[in-house]
Amino acid sequence: MKRFHILTIFPHAFDSYLKESFLKRAQRKGLITIAAHDLRGFTSDRHKKVDDRPFGGGPGMVNKVEPVYKAVEAIKKRSRVSGRARRVILFSLRGKKLDAKISKRRAAYDELVLICGRYEGGDERGAEHIADEEISIGDYVLSGGELPALVLMESVCRFVPGFMGKHESLEDFKGSYPTYSRPEVFVPKKGARWAIPKILLSGNHKKIDEWRGSR
Ligand code: SAH
Repeated sequence: MKRFHILTIFPHAFDSYLKESFLKRAQRKGLITIAAHDLRGFTSDRHKKVDDRPFGGGPGMVNKVEPVYKAVEAIKKRSRVSGRARRVILFSLRGKKLDAKISKRRAAYDELVLICGRYEGGDERGAEHIADEEISIGDYVLSGGELPALVLMESVCRFVPGFMGKHESLEDFKGSYPTYSRPEVFVPKKGARWAIPKILLSGNHKKIDEWRGSR
């Protein structure tokens, strides 16, 4: 059983996707558990402030380090998993770019703690002292780490035994190829014929593999 802990100021942002996806099935099968923790629950001031102005000036607000620290400590304290089986990941544009190799390696941990930033990003002390690593899901700016958390969880889960069922996927490493299904010829409107490549009907699996490899 693998555990994901998500630290976020929008814990309900995950509800709809987790209710209808492979991740839901994986939870039901008992392969994984996912808990979204509200960072506001780890603040100590009356206003439950999770952000503050940047030192040195500049636009926007910065995620405070204290709630992140307290949340991670609370998770560690309650956890039955040893420190070596846990990895704390901070989503950041400066992080390592996520790919299937990283996902596969992360799938070996029993517990992944995912820290979602918001605003202008986190107080850098989170990266320096709390997280084991920083991960980016690509060179574009999202408004928070919530989508990156879903992306990472789903790509990691593909490497959790049992998650994919019988259809273990090689595409994670080998890349994808075009696929077709019935009908052989689709007629979207009069005069138009969308046919599938003939090779796929040949029954010659060596040729089919070659064709797929070349696409
Ligand atoms: N001003 C910051 C951007 C902050 S975006 C900068 O230029 O670096 C707010 C948060 O969303 C980030 O701290 C990070 O946690 C998350 N985020 C946004 N885009 C992301 C991406 N491509 N990959 C991973 N996390 C991302």
